Amino acid sequence: MDNYHVAAKTCSIIHCDLDAFYASVEQRDTPSLQGKPVIVGGNPRSRGVVATCSYEARQYGVKSAMPLVQAQRLCPHAVFLPVARQRYQEVSRQVFAIMADYTPVMEILSIDEAFLDVSSSLSAFGSPESIGRTIKQRVEKELNLKISVGISYNKFLAKLASQLDKPDGFRVIRADEAWALLRPLPVQCLWGVGEKTRQELDRLGLYHIGDIQDLPEGWLADKIGSAGKLFWELARGIDSRPVTPGRQRKSLGREVTFAADTTDINYLKDLLDRFAVELCRKLRQKDMEAGTVTVKIKYSNFAAISRSKTISPSNSDMLIGETAIGILQDAYPGYPPLRLIGLSLGKLTATPALEQGSLFVPVEADTSEIDRVMDDIRRRFGSQAIGRANALTWKIPKDE
Ligand SMILES: [Mg+2]
Repeated sequence: MDNYHVAAKTCSIIHCDLDAFYASVEQRDTPSLQGKPVIVGGNPRSRGVVATCSYEARQYGVKSAMPLVQAQRLCPHAVFLPVARQRYQEVSRQVFAIMADYTPVMEILSIDEAFLDVSSSLSAFGSPESIGRTIKQRVEKELNLKISVGISYNKFLAKLASQLDKPDGFRVIRADEAWALLRPLPVQCLWGVGEKTRQELDRLGLYHIGDIQDLPEGWLADKIGSAGKLFWELARGIDSRPVTPGRQRKSLGREVTFAADTTDINYLKDLLDRFAVELCRKLRQKDMEAGTVTVKIKYSNFAAISRSKTISPSNSDMLIGETAIGILQDAYPGYPPLRLIGLSLGKLTATPALEQGSLFVPVEADTSEIDRVMDDIRRRFGSQAIGRANALTWKIPKDE
């Protein structure tokens, strides 16, 4: 067999990542926005952050997660749009449906990103490259969106390949070129190296991936702990993590940035309660429970803290709402003013199947049955139709 065949056989992991997804959907759906800087995130006076911006806006230095105020300073003529999450989710499902035509081994990473392992699809659909090309062409033709495709023999390099060639990218990284390609890249290109780790590596004199490639095995793990082993392997193009299909969301969250800073503890408590109702309803729809409750607050000076509590897995509004409020009371003495509060639920697991044939529920039974009935009523009559008394007091300000 020739080399091409060997390489094609091993490079069977595809990473697909839509380009400037939210902004592209907006530009697609409103042709007058095409070619213009579009910033999705909300009203620039709303104090939220940029969720996604079009490539036209990026030319002005606008980036994701930047405060909208700053984005407006950099690009005053940009069009600012609210986050139309449901519409993006709908489009996202259409994109994933195209990918799913080529392999059942698909790991969804986020609303616009997934890994595919096509090693068992080759006889039906041809080489990984032709599968990657086909997906790219279909997404463009059927959905009128651009998607970047990276292909390699492991997840890290497939993702790197799609990122290196953005936008509208298509790139393969083969085993025999990985070492040299990685060498000059900054250490931040390694999976898991954020700003904090970058600084740590910087102090050790490690600036480029090549610096890590040249280290003897074990050296980096001695210096920075177990992550050091992972980075050393990634630097050498080693990544044995499999593509894990059907991976569930690991967390679910809701947060809001206030129009004006607040110290009103009752208002904050009621917001957490409302978030708990909203998130628990989502959990129950998916037959999931949460094992951690995290409250995040951001002060007027942008400093943020988050505090978590482990609970026995639950999707009860009441239990999770009360846990969140307890965390807030411990963490926030009522000063300084807050600009943001958020609630997120983590360690999500599937709800254990109900036992068959159990007619009697113990008196101390949890409130999940009540919650389910309330979900039903909300489904039929709208989300404001019913709620627990203490969740009704306040109107939640618009998110983003
Ligand atoms: Mg993307």
